[in-house]
Amino acid sequence: MQQPYGLEIWGDQNFLIRDGKAHINYKSSPALLDIANHIRSEGIRGPVILRFPHLITKQIDTLYSHFNRAIDENSYRGVFKAVYPLKVNQYPEVVRAIVDAGKPYRYGLEAGSKAELILAMAYTPIGSPVTVNGFKDEEMITMGFLAAQMGHSITLTIEGIGELESIIEVAEKTPYRVPNIGIRIRLHSGGSGIWAKSGGMQAKFGLTSTELLEAFDLLIKHRLLSRFTMLHFHIGSQMEEIAPLKRALREAGNIYAELKRMGADALRAINIGGGLSVEYAQHPAKRVRNYSLKEFANDVVFLLGEIMKTKGVEHPNIVTESGRFITASHAVLVAPVLELFSHDYQERSLKLKSENPPLIEELRSLNDLLTSGNSIEFLHDALDHLESLLKLFELGYIDLQDRSNAEILVHTIIKKALYLKKNNQLPEVERLQERLQERYLVNSSFFQSMPDYWGLGQQFPVMPLDRLDQSAIRAASLWDITCDSDGEIGFNPGAPLYLHDVDLDTEEYFLGFFNIGAYQETLGMHHNLFSHPSEATVEIDDDGFCCNNMDEAEDILEILDNLEYDPDAVLNQLESRIAESEFITSEENRDTLSTLKRYLAQNGYLRTTK
Ligand SMILES: *Cc1c(COP(=O)(O)O)cnc(C)c1O
Repeated sequence: MQQPYGLEIWGDQNFLIRDGKAHINYKSSPALLDIANHIRSEGIRGPVILRFPHLITKQIDTLYSHFNRAIDENSYRGVFKAVYPLKVNQYPEVVRAIVDAGKPYRYGLEAGSKAELILAMAYTPIGSPVTVNGFKDEEMITMGFLAAQMGHSITLTIEGIGELESIIEVAEKTPYRVPNIGIRIRLHSGGSGIWAKSGGMQAKFGLTSTELLEAFDLLIKHRLLSRFTMLHFHIGSQMEEIAPLKRALREAGNIYAELKRMGADALRAINIGGGLSVEYAQHPAKRVRNYSLKEFANDVVFLLGEIMKTKGVEHPNIVTESGRFITASHAVLVAPVLELFSHDYQERSLKLKSENPPLIEELRSLNDLLTSGNSIEFLHDALDHLESLLKLFELGYIDLQDRSNAEILVHTIIKKALYLKKNNQLPEVERLQERLQERYLVNSSFFQSMPDYWGLGQQFPVMPLDRLDQSAIRAASLWDITCDSDGEIGFNPGAPLYLHDVDLDTEEYFLGFFNIGAYQETLGMHHNLFSHPSEATVEIDDDGFCCNNMDEAEDILEILDNLEYDPDAVLNQLESRIAESEFITSEENRDTLSTLKRYLAQNGYLRTTK
C-alpha cells in the first residue's frame, strides 16, 4: 500500500503511521512526537538526534542471518565474519549499541585512523575481529602489534608495499606479537554510483597484481607468510547494483585461489569490504537499490563457492565491513519548523486603499469570486498580475503598500486554490508547484546534520511527525538557519515534497529527517558555529520508552572553546565592554552580565518555538 512520504520505500518497517502520527514500529510503538516532546519537557530546545539502538540490533541480526542462511543453503564450508567500520559513526552511544548487539556473533570493529584504532582496541571484545585499513605510519602499525599483544585478533590491511615494509621493520624491532596481515588489492572492476571511487584501477587504495607478487616475495623472505591471512577489497559505498560486486568477487576470488596455489597457506579469508546500500528514496521512480540483502548474500556465497570449486581450493571465510547498512536507520533528526515564509501574507494584514491600482482591484475580485471550477484559471491570472505589479513597482508606478497588498492577495488566492483542489491534484497544479512553493524555515543546520546533501546531493527522507492523516498541499522547500543559501533543500518537481499549511502562532510542526545515522554526524560541519545537535538514546519496551543519555548540544561558550577561544577571556572581554558602556548604569551592570551569561550557557540553535 502506498503510504505518506514513501514510507514503504525507505522505512524498512521501522516506522508506522497511526492516528496521523509517525510511530516507532517496535514493542509499545511510541509516537516520535511524544518522544520529542518528552525531551523538550526536560528543557532541551532545538534539533535533536534520536537514536534507536533496537534498529542497530535489527541490522546486525539481519546481516548475520542472511549470510548464515546462504552458507547453509549452499553447503559452503567457510564461516561468515563481520566488522563495523568505525568511520561510519563513532559516537559513543552507537559504538556501545554495536558492541552490545554484536557480542553473540563476535562482531568486530574496523579502524581507519589512530583514534579509531584506539576505540577498536578498547571496545572490541577479545576474540572478535579487529581490522585496520587506511594509511598507516610506523606508530600506527606498532599500535596494531600492541593490540595483538593484548590478545586481539587483529588484521592490519596493507594499502601499499611501504606499509608491509614498515610491518617487517616493527616485527624485527619489537618483541610484540605480529598481527595478522591483510592485503588490499586494486581490482580492475569498479563500483557504481556517487561513492564508486574506492574500486577500479584509479582507486586511492590497494596493490596492483605486480605489487601483490612483490609483497608475496617480501612475506616469504621475512618469514611472515604465516601471518598473511586475508585478502581485501572494497568497491565503494552505497552500491546501487550488484553486477559490479559480482565482477569484483570473480576477480578477487581468482586472485585468492592463485595465492593459495602459490603456497599462501595461512590465507583463509576474503574481506569483501562494505557498500551494502540503504534506500533513501521517497518516490518509487527514485529507488536506488536493485538487490536485496538475501540476493547479495546468496551471490557472494555462491560465487566464491563456484570459483573455489573450479580451482580446487578450500572455501575461504567471508568477511564484510558494511557500515552504512548497519547504522543509517538508527538515527532520526527531529527539527522544529520555525516559520513559513508566506506567514506574513495573512489576509488580516491587507491594507487596501480607498483607491487601488486596477490590477489590485482585479486581484480582489479574483479572490472574492474564486471557486473550485475557476480556481486554476484564476490562479494563472493572479500569478500573471503579480508579475505585472512587481514590474510596475520597479518602474515606480505603484508604491510599497500596493506591492504588499498584491503579494498578500496572490498568496491568499494560492492557498484557497490549493485547498479547493486538495483532493484532486490536477497536472496543471503540479506544473505550477514550483512557482507556488512554500518555504519552511527549519531549526537545524543542513551543513551539520546532512552534509552529504550539501556535498553530494544525497537526499534523505523527510516526513512530518504528525498530521499524516491530513493532506499536505504545500510544495515545500526547506531552509536551514545558517546564513548560507546552500542551506536549502529546494523543491524538486522530480521528487516533490509536500508539507502542511500550519499556523505556527498556534501550533507546532516538527519534521523528521530519516536514515541519517551513517556518515553524517562526524562529517557534519560547524558552519556558522552550529554544533552537533542534542541527542538522546531511546530504549523502547512493551510498556513505553525511556530516553537515556540525553545530551544537549554544546553551549555557546563550549562552541567558542572548541575553536580555541579562551572562554574566560571572552567573558572578561564582555564584562569590560559592559563596564565601559555609557548606556549601562552601574546598577544595570550585573543584570546585563547575568542575562548574557544565561544565554551563553544555552545551545547555539534557536529557541523561538515554545
Ligand atoms: C568506508 C569503508 C567501508 C564501509 O562502507 P559502507 O558503504 O559504509 O558499508 C568498508 N570498508 C572500507 C575499506 C571502507 O573504507
